[in-house]
Amino acid sequence: MDGAYGEGGGQILRMSLALSALTGAPVHLRNIRVKRSPPGLRAQHRTAVEAMTRLSDASVKGLELGSTELEFTPRQLKGGRLALDTGTAGSTTLVLQSLLPAMAFSEKRTEVQITGGTNNPLAPPIDYVQRVLAPSLAKMGLQVKIDLVRRGFYPRGGGVVRAALDPVETVQPIQLTRFEELTCVSGIAYSSRLPKHIVPRMVRRAREILRLADLEADDIDMEVADQGSPRCALSPGCGILLTGTIIPEGVLGADSLGELGKSAERVGEEVAEGLLRLIGQKAPVDTYLGDQLIIYMALADGRSTIRVGGLTPHMESCIYVCERFFRRIFTLTTERGGPATITCEGTGFSVEERGSRRSRPP
Ligand code: ATP
Repeated sequence: MDGAYGEGGGQILRMSLALSALTGAPVHLRNIRVKRSPPGLRAQHRTAVEAMTRLSDASVKGLELGSTELEFTPRQLKGGRLALDTGTAGSTTLVLQSLLPAMAFSEKRTEVQITGGTNNPLAPPIDYVQRVLAPSLAKMGLQVKIDLVRRGFYPRGGGVVRAALDPVETVQPIQLTRFEELTCVSGIAYSSRLPKHIVPRMVRRAREILRLADLEADDIDMEVADQGSPRCALSPGCGILLTGTIIPEGVLGADSLGELGKSAERVGEEVAEGLLRLIGQKAPVDTYLGDQLIIYMALADGRSTIRVGGLTPHMESCIYVCERFFRRIFTLTTERGGPATITCEGTGFSVEERGSRRSRPP
């Protein structure tokens, strides 16, 4: 597997490990994250490899930090309990991204606890996993239980996430193509170890921007954690996630993270502008969810179709990895102005297929 394909980041590694563990086909990755600086495995990626090694009883070569080459040979997907620690603020949700598809076909229920960052830049916030990804996977028959025990922000991390999933026989295909109407906007705003006024200020500004577009967001949870609160992170941090529920089906998610020098109002503006941009695309799947659903579409028993706001290099990388393991199963149709439709003839993967490199033809 060529890790330099497409956007050449960690996605190729995570998807390759998941599909290797699922199919039983060993994988040899070269050029891992060579388009990133520094290249090779970082703590988060190494934890993902360790997680997949333990989940699938694999043997692995090339696990050092900075390694750009890895050989991964899985044996058995046992499931059970796993505890993992990125050791830093490395993203817990990206480790989960690799684990979840394989957990779906383990011999027994898998319960995993991951320690690290829960709200990192350039990774799904845990709130997005709970409010956007999990409901979408539920439509595909995967009832993932995600608990946020404690938040973790850069630099100290230390956040704790728990995920549990019972194995399924097959993954159901998904159809998310129509955007008729937006029914409601909701969300969550959170802070740890910061003055209490930050969360209401982010929310107030987000609501102001949404109101200019005639949208009301009444249902925004506010979580203000200080030292005594169980969810309080080790390092200070804040952010907000807004979701838009679509008729007939679908949830869009936009988020913004606080950082030093960025006002609470700016965080609120960013998230509201982000959600309005997604709504303007009139597609029921946002581009982040788009790449995250690709692997499940490949495994599903039947044809899936999703309409996304636009094609991204991450989607292309995920499709590349899936098609290397299976065969050509994806078709892409782009529309003028950006939106695209991704169709997949799912392989109907089931546990019986483990050990055979290819699933049955669609
Ligand atoms: P890199 O090699 O670039 O450091 P990485 O392993 O940290 O990579 P990427 O390969 O870039 O991560 O993958 C990032 C993943 O996180 C993608 O699945 C993307 O959809 C998701 N993601 C990034 N930002 C968000 C966000 N704000 N909301 C939801 N999902 C996000």
